[in-house]
Amino acid sequence: MAVHRDTFSVKTSGRISLENITSEVESRLADGKVRVGTATIHVPHTTTALAVNEDEPGLRNDILRLAKEVVEPLRRGGFDHDRVDDNAASHLTSVLLGNSLTLPFHDGRLDLGTWENLFLVELDGPRTRTVQVTAVGE
Ligand code: ZN
Repeated sequence: MAVHRDTFSVKTSGRISLENITSEVESRLADGKVRVGTATIHVPHTTTALAVNEDEPGLRNDILRLAKEVVEPLRRGGFDHDRVDDNAASHLTSVLLGNSLTLPFHDGRLDLGTWENLFLVELDGPRTRTVQVTAVGE
């Protein structure tokens, strides 16, 4: 068994935005250190999330609309954490979506379906975010 870990940065483009990180993750898996296995992708932030879905412009807008329709009403919620830095809604949406995924891969490519892409979901940007990729396999 082999383990390989790498990180990279993503500059997110909006307060709530979708960043397609599929090719960035795959480039970290293409070094040949682990040919086949599972990759855990993790964003070590409390106001981001990860999602797998289709990279179609209309659907990107729909996903952003969904995120905004979840986050924006929560912003009026008066949560306890809002007294700290006024972004409880971003944290809560991250809790709902999750900030790590484990996906199978082989030969430098994630084993995604034809229309699947891996997105970082920014919920409190724009910021520079870190993505960790840990590959386990052989
Ligand atoms: Zn906060």
